[in-house]
Amino acid sequence: MGDARIIDGKAFAEGLRTRIAAEVQHLTSRHGLQPGLAVVLVGEDPASQIYVRSKGEQTEQVGMKSITRRLPASTTQAELLAVVAELNADKSVHGILVQFPVPPPLEQAPVVAAIDPDKDVDGLHVVNAGRLASGLPGLVPCTPSGCLMLLKDALGDLRGKRAVVVGRSNLMGKPMAQLLLGADCTVTIAHSRTADLPGVCREADILVAAAGRAEMVRGDWIKPGAAVIDVGINRVPSRDPVKAAEGKTRVVGDVSFDEARLVAGWITPVPGGVGPMTIACLLQNTLTAARRQTGLD
Ligand code: NDP
Repeated sequence: MGDARIIDGKAFAEGLRTRIAAEVQHLTSRHGLQPGLAVVLVGEDPASQIYVRSKGEQTEQVGMKSITRRLPASTTQAELLAVVAELNADKSVHGILVQFPVPPPLEQAPVVAAIDPDKDVDGLHVVNAGRLASGLPGLVPCTPSGCLMLLKDALGDLRGKRAVVVGRSNLMGKPMAQLLLGADCTVTIAHSRTADLPGVCREADILVAAAGRAEMVRGDWIKPGAAVIDVGINRVPSRDPVKAAEGKTRVVGDVSFDEARLVAGWITPVPGGVGPMTIACLLQNTLTAARRQTGLD
């Protein structure tokens, strides 16, 4: 095989945002409905702050209403739940996202459980997990949703393909597997206890790597011509030893890109592959939630 085709998630996400903006414009002008997304950030984590700012900017860019609730790290569980209850009741808010992780001793699970499932644009509530597993309409976690869009765009029909998902988290691996099953793939979920992981991966026409292990998937784990979706975001020392000594880092995926691109048929780069899809899919979920809550679906 030669070089794999690169799946450009950045360009795809840009196109998706343009389509969302057109739909928002239509809803606002025709129906007086401006979809609203509320993001709750507890504490001062720098990475979360950057991410939340970026969400707010992109929400406004597509014409939606953006609400950011910044709460101090000293916020109690009861105070956080009260904010969620207030947003649940606010008719101008169609989507609610609490930025995780929340600082200890706050717990994530009661917060997720408190969000109105119809406003749960992260798709983490058990009601949405259940809807996805049952093939009912609901809100699907953003990153797996984005991966499916990229796969359908690259491959077209996914029916009958063998898919392997490495990772079984509620956020990524499990919903990814459900989506691929819904697209009529034959799905295997692999994890840290899987025997012969390289052999399992080699069976995949579609390989989704979401383990959080830097460059774990090697070129000889990949079936020639397979579509490889690399979800991992891992910080490793810079290639330049001087910069590495200064503590400089670079971001790599869960797939050894340089090896994999020689074998795969399609591959997502890191960065620029799956990453940009996540916020675009969050906006898509907010749009879907707004339409359903107002009976415009
Ligand atoms: P989790 O840590 O919650 O889950 C990782 C999964 O990978 C677990 O199921 C674990 O197995 C499995 N795993 C870990 N090590 C191995 C191994 N050596 N071999 C096989 N399986 C292994 O991570 P997430 O699902 O939240 O995220 C996965 C990756 O995707 C991370 O790098 C994260 O940064 C990235 N990510 C990127 C996003 C984006 O692009 N926007 C969004 C979300 C995540 P077990 O269950 O047995 O422990």
